[in-house]
Amino acid sequence: MKIDSQTHPLQARDAVLGVAFATIAALAVIGAVAALSSLAPRAEGAALKSLQHRFPVPSRHAYGDGVGAGRGHQGQDIFARCGKRVLAARGGKVQDRGRHSSAGNYLVIDGRRTRVDYVYMHLRGNSLARQGERVGRGEKIGKVGQSGNAVGCHLHFEMWSGPGWYEGGRHMRSVTKHLRRWDRADG
Ligand SMILES: [Zn+2]
Repeated sequence: MKIDSQTHPLQARDAVLGVAFATIAALAVIGAVAALSSLAPRAEGAALKSLQHRFPVPSRHAYGDGVGAGRGHQGQDIFARCGKRVLAARGGKVQDRGRHSSAGNYLVIDGRRTRVDYVYMHLRGNSLARQGERVGRGEKIGKVGQSGNAVGCHLHFEMWSGPGWYEGGRHMRSVTKHLRRWDRADG
């Protein structure tokens, strides 16, 4: 995905949220769409179970807010000390990286042999991975930070169903379940 100021996906999200919270009617529409489309992520989640992943924060960590906690929270927060390693949960191609007022330094990886995108936010400094670069599962892609709108050092991690992050996919509510499974497997 090419970044430019007109179509930056996070700016688009901000705009969408602004409209959504402006009227009750808009919220009702969003709810209806979410209800209609709730089957797809489960199927995708089942398929993901057979693919190898790595828990992205190998140091001591604690789970914070999950999906839906607070307005528009679309991922799972994992608290760890600032500067600790962030690993690629799934290998793939770096689809997007940049800096955003809320997300801070962020990275989006198009997961290898999945239709899922993996999103990492609030990184300390720029991610080590470059746009378009391929990274392997478990490869270091950055450091835990608190860049952007973050209180305390943590990784904000999202998973998006196909075709992906702001490409027509949706954030997956099952992200926490997946993380906990990988966490147990790596522990
Ligand atoms: Zn978060």
